Amino acid sequence: MKRIQGWGNIQTDYPLPDPARAYLETVVGTPHKLPTIPIAELIKKVPPSRLPAHPLITTDPEDRLRHARGQSLPDWVDMYDGLVDSFPDGVAYPETDEQVRDLIQYTLKAGVNLIPYGGGSSVVGHLTPLQEGPPSLSVDLGKMNRLLDLNEDNLEATFQAGVTGPQLETQLEQRGFILGHFPQSWEYSSLGGWIVTRSVGQQSYHYGRIEPLFACGHLETPSGPLDLPHIPKSAAGPDLRHLVLGSEARLGIVTQATMRIRRLPEEEHFYAAFFPNFEIGATAVRKIAQSELALSMVRLSDPMETETTFQLSGEEALVNIAKKGLNLFGQGAERCMLIYGLTGSRAENRLADRQLAHIVRSHQGMMVKFYLGEAWIKKRFLTPYLRNTLWELGYALDTLETALPWDKLQDGRQAILHAISHALKAENEPVLVFSHISHVYTNGGSMYVTYLYRRAEDSQETLARWTKMKAAASQCITQMGGTISHQHGVGLDHKPYLHIEKDPTSMHIIRNIISTVDPDGIMNTGKLIDLD
Ligand SMILES: Cc1cc2nc3c(=O)[nH]c(=O)nc-3n(C[C@H](O)[C@H](O)[C@H](O)COP(=O)(O)OP(=O)(O)OC[C@H]3O[C@@H](n4cnc5c(N)ncnc54)[C@H](O)[C@@H]3O)c2cc1C
Repeated sequence: MKRIQGWGNIQTDYPLPDPARAYLETVVGTPHKLPTIPIAELIKKVPPSRLPAHPLITTDPEDRLRHARGQSLPDWVDMYDGLVDSFPDGVAYPETDEQVRDLIQYTLKAGVNLIPYGGGSSVVGHLTPLQEGPPSLSVDLGKMNRLLDLNEDNLEATFQAGVTGPQLETQLEQRGFILGHFPQSWEYSSLGGWIVTRSVGQQSYHYGRIEPLFACGHLETPSGPLDLPHIPKSAAGPDLRHLVLGSEARLGIVTQATMRIRRLPEEEHFYAAFFPNFEIGATAVRKIAQSELALSMVRLSDPMETETTFQLSGEEALVNIAKKGLNLFGQGAERCMLIYGLTGSRAENRLADRQLAHIVRSHQGMMVKFYLGEAWIKKRFLTPYLRNTLWELGYALDTLETALPWDKLQDGRQAILHAISHALKAENEPVLVFSHISHVYTNGGSMYVTYLYRRAEDSQETLARWTKMKAAASQCITQMGGTISHQHGVGLDHKPYLHIEKDPTSMHIIRNIISTVDPDGIMNTGKLIDLD
C-alpha cells in the first residue's frame, strides 16, 4: 500500500547507515527529532464534502486525504506536520473513457474544479486543491491501466493513461517490447502524468524524453473528445500533441496514449568512470553528447555529490579502499563520478564502450567497470525512500532542475549552488547542496540539484527555509536564461517564473488555448498559468 506521509510503498524502507548519519551531522548539524502527526489526526481535519452525489464518487475522508497532495516539499510539510488545509471534496476512480466523460459533464454542471490524479508523484504542487473557490473532485486514473493494443509492425502500443511504470513495462515485456521511460518515480507515476508534465526518464539519452515517445492519443475535454491523429509524421499544420504535452491537466484528461516502443535490448550494462574535477568531466560529457555516442545514460556527479554518494552508501571499508585507489590514479578530492549505461546489441555496446573509454582517457579520466554502475542501477528506484528516512530523522531534502546551453552550464551550476547554500545565512543554517548533469543534448544539458537542510521545530519555519532556497535558486536559474523546469513541470511552485521563460505573446496564446478548450475553467484551475 502507498504511504500517505512520504514516498512510496509502506513496506519499503531505505535505512541510513550509522557512518552516513555521522557524516550528515558533521555537514549539516544535529537534527531535531520531531513528531509526525498521526494519520487519524489528519483524517479528522477533512471537512464535510460539498459535492452533489454521484455514483462514481466517494467522499470517504481517507480517500480524500490520500489525494490531497503530491510529493513537493510543501506537500510533505502539509502531510507530515499536519498543515494540510485543503482537500478534494470527493474522489472518483473511472475505468472507461465514457465514465471520464460523464465525470466531466458532472463537474461542468455542478461547477466543480476537476483535478486528474495519476500516480500522485508531482513535485511542484500540481495536485493541491485550491483553498478558496468551488469544491474540487480528484479523478484517480489508477483503474485505467490496461494495454489496449500492441502493433508489432508499427512498433506502437496503446495504453489507458492511468497505467504506472511497472504495469506498463510488465505488459510490454511479456510480448518482448519496452517503452524505456524510467523517471525515478517510475514505481508509482503514470503514463498520463508523464505526458502532461513532459517527464524525462533516466535513460532519455537512448529512449528519448516522453515527447518523441508519445505518438498520439485520446483526451476527454470540457469541449468534448479530442483525438490526436495516428500518423507517423505530418506537415499538415501545427501538431496538437505539443499542446497536450505539458498541459498539466488544463485541457482535459488524457485517457489513452499510443506510445512508440522498441524490441527488448539484447543486453544492458551500467558502469562508472571518474574525472579529476567537474570542469574536465563536464567537457568530456559534452564531447560524448556531441559525438552522439550510442549510450543509454550519462550522469556526471559533481565532487560533493560524488563524496555524498560514497558516504551515504555506509560501506566505510569499501569506500576507503576505493578512495585510496582513485587517489593513486590522480582522481583526488575534487573527483567526479560518471555513471553511464549501455543498452543495445552486444556489438553496439562494445563499440560505444570503446568510444567512451577513448573520450574518458583523453580527459584524464579513469574507467571503473565493476560495482559502482551495477550498484546504481539496483538502487535507482529505492533511493527516493531515503528522503523518508531523512525526514523522520529531522532533515528535509528537496531537488530542483534546469537545463542550460553548454556554454552556460558550468557558471550556471556554480551560481545555483551558491544561491542555495547562502540562502539560510541569516538563520545560520548550513545546507548540503550538490548536483549532477543528468540529461545531455548536443546543445546543452540538464542540471539536477539536491539540497538538504535541517527541519525546524516550527513547521512554518521549515517551509520558510525551503521557500528562501527555492526562490533564490529559481531567480538565479531564470537570470541565467535556464528553464524553470527541465522535467518536473510548472504546477504551483514554478508558476511565478513561467512568464520569464515565455514572452507575453506566448503567455497570451497559452491562456487563450486553455480558455477555448475549457471556457468554464473547471480543469485543474490555478496550476501552470493564471488566466487573468
Ligand atoms: C521520487 C520522485 C522522483 C521523480 N523523478 C522524476 C524523473 O526522474 N523524471 C521526471 O520527469 N519526473 C520525476 N518526478 C516527478 C513526477 O514523477 C513526474 O512529474 C510525473 O510525470 C508525474 O506523474 P504522475 O502520474 O505521478 O502525475 P500526478 O502527480 O498524479 O499528476 C501530475 C499532473 O498531471 C495531471 N495528470 C495526471 N494524469 C493525467 C491524465 N491522465 N490526464 C491529464 N492530466 C493528468 C495531474 O492533474 C497533475 O496536474 C519525480 C517525482 C518523485 C516524487
